Amino acid sequence: MDPNTNSISDLLRKHSISRTAARIEVMRVMTQAGTMLSLFEIVKRMNYRHDRVTIYRILCMFCQKELLYKLVDLQSNTYYRFNALMTKEDLAKHRRDEVFFKCIDCGEITFIETPIPEYLLPKGFVKTATNFLISGYCRACAAVPVHPQHARK
Ligand SMILES: [Zn+2]
Repeated sequence: MDPNTNSISDLLRKHSISRTAARIEVMRVMTQAGTMLSLFEIVKRMNYRHDRVTIYRILCMFCQKELLYKLVDLQSNTYYRFNALMTKEDLAKHRRDEVFFKCIDCGEITFIETPIPEYLLPKGFVKTATNFLISGYCRACAAVPVHPQHARK
């Protein structure tokens, strides 16, 4: 048995989630990911075949329980990130102010730790959250010498 399985079981138990093979498997993929993953990438990384609807339902439940964080980009693609080790304060902050970077080459989504500037809103508007999604080339893709970004120069 994977040594990680016990800690995942504990995590699910702590959040009153009954343990099924699929739930444990989804959580294993998410804890090992270290980045945001789409449903497609999650299914691809699983060792056992489960239907997408089951996985989608598990992801929705994990998001409700705040074990995962969900991000929807401008093309309506959804990405998930493991959240459970964040403090309540960090979670609240992330919900208010978030900056994400999406690589247009490899598609990886990275959470960027950076202060968000204040914007002047028209009179009567009340801000509750700011969400930014920056597109471009991630560090790894930008470093590839044959990249179109370099070819333009
Ligand atoms: Zn990239």
